[in-house]
Amino acid sequence: MKKEFAVIGLGRFGGSICRELSREGMEVLAIDLDEDKVNEYKDIAGHAVIADSTDENVLRELGMRNIDHVIVAIGDNIQASILTTLMLKELGIKTITVKAQNDYHEKVLSKIGADHVVHPERDMGKRIAHNIISNNILDYIELSDDHSVVEVKAGSKMSGRTLVDLDIRAQYGCNVVAIKRKKDVIVSPMATEEIRESDVLIVIGADNDISRFEKNLVVED
Ligand code: ATP
Repeated sequence: MKKEFAVIGLGRFGGSICRELSREGMEVLAIDLDEDKVNEYKDIAGHAVIADSTDENVLRELGMRNIDHVIVAIGDNIQASILTTLMLKELGIKTITVKAQNDYHEKVLSKIGADHVVHPERDMGKRIAHNIISNNILDYIELSDDHSVVEVKAGSKMSGRTLVDLDIRAQYGCNVVAIKRKKDVIVSPMATEEIRESDVLIVIGADNDISRFEKNLVVED
């Protein structure tokens, strides 16, 4: 059976999730208080309805119980976002993803059982900052408060050297989990793998360790 999604709040973030899920052929129920927003998504999502998600009866009437994954993308109204999440939780929704506005909001959402709390502006800010620090850092994904995965261009400092020679695990405490080489991906590369300048390395580790690795082996002098 096809997974069913609902997106509550059709601002830029919720709207973009709604568009992308629909484009991927997913069944999406789009919900917003604002009639204009709902009209905008009528032809994009499977169903688009004007509704107030803080009204428990409305959520029931919409058949929310049968939805597999609900994305709560209510922006400024933190109270509405928390209340909606709480009620979705009570309805027994399997997976709830909520956009947090700030750290306090995030804390409350985690406490009341939101499965995923996202902070798109903050996370994108961090990713862009890492990209600005070094042109060789292509992407950055936060795993926890102090662990991440980065995607880096190998560059000249690592070119022609093997993983064992660079001794990344012992020297920097991080692991190269994959190497992207043109169209190939080498998963769990051998220690004897020789790195090419144009390779892209996927590195996992503690932020402090990754930072030392970046400084010494990635950032060009
Ligand atoms: P963006 O996602 O565009 O960066 P944002 O996070 O500030 O911005 P808003 O512009 O506030 O998001 O958009 C949130 C949407 O959620 C609005 O379209 C608003 O009408 C809708 N919304 C707010 N409260 C409710 C509610 N109780 N039920 C349904 N929709 C709601």
